[in-house]
Amino acid sequence: MAHKINAYNNVLELIGNTPLVKLNKITKGFAGNFFAKVEAFNPGHSSKDRIAMYIIEEAERKGILTEGSTIIETTSGNTGFSIAMVSIIKGYDCILAVSSKSSTDKINMLRSMGATVYVCPAHVSADDPRSYYEVAKRLHEETEGSIYINQYFNELNIEAHYVSTGPEIWEQTNGHITHLVACSGTGGTISGTAKYLKEQNPDIKVIGVDAYGSVLKKYHETGKFDAKEVYPYRIEGLGKNLIPGATEFELIDEFIKVTDSESAHTAREIAQTEGIFAGYTSGAAIQAIKQLNERGEFGADDNVVVIFPDHGSRYMSKIYSDQWMEDQGFLDTEPVEKTQEIQY
Ligand code: PMP
Repeated sequence: MAHKINAYNNVLELIGNTPLVKLNKITKGFAGNFFAKVEAFNPGHSSKDRIAMYIIEEAERKGILTEGSTIIETTSGNTGFSIAMVSIIKGYDCILAVSSKSSTDKINMLRSMGATVYVCPAHVSADDPRSYYEVAKRLHEETEGSIYINQYFNELNIEAHYVSTGPEIWEQTNGHITHLVACSGTGGTISGTAKYLKEQNPDIKVIGVDAYGSVLKKYHETGKFDAKEVYPYRIEGLGKNLIPGATEFELIDEFIKVTDSESAHTAREIAQTEGIFAGYTSGAAIQAIKQLNERGEFGADDNVVVIFPDHGSRYMSKIYSDQWMEDQGFLDTEPVEKTQEIQY
């Protein structure tokens, strides 16, 4: 008889049920209690494991995917990594069209996970044939038996968080959450999580985080796409140059905009104060919380949950590199001398 071994059958069983961690120092002196939902604890180190698994398994249930099928996606990196991971375990081919804004680390990682990667220019419009949307669409048309995940316009992206992230946060806070703060890219995380939480308690305030250079906040306020809002920025995975169909804007109470520089510094501050090595957008989310705190948004008894979408290791050559920070003009202080001359 086989012995009972306490092991997971594969890494996919580790997706979800990420911990909620109290923030103790970075929010010191702020009214309220602050908790980070640390999505880096997923096996693919980001919240995107949830949608990759959910969307692929939905396609399997519907009989769309068959053995040897190809899965195609556009991605800033994290979704690609998660799809590549799920594809390896389940035996699918994975083709990814990524933005040239993605870090070299991320692109190398995707290739290491067996994906075929097409790097497409970041600063072209969405309908340009060189954009990663158009490249993915073309590859989908050309590859027989392929599926295109299309996370920006896929309802299942929202549903994945509605069935997992939302219920987890509700249970972890015993229903005492008052605010949800989440970065918005495709909008899947914030929309699905907010939908579940607001169904439990409509008074929960949902705050989206957007980048300067993205259209989301303006669209939320006016209902109109304003091309003047679109310009290049550095933060990966946050904000958009189009209106994503996977965002339910009516579930979001407000958007707060954050800058590249402050978000980068804040991500570094999270590591140094909380010991959580998180990604660029986690810095962006805390930067938004700082702005909200300054304007007196939070009360003493409020419980604020902030999503930390991914892990800092994906940004070693970016926000965690002093050289990169300096090249962006983000370091306003004199660089520390690395070596000191010794006088004899
Ligand atoms: N942070 C990072 C690092 C991401 O990759 C993404 C996904 N684009 C987000 C935040 C935003 O998540 P969502 O797409 O669910 O809005």
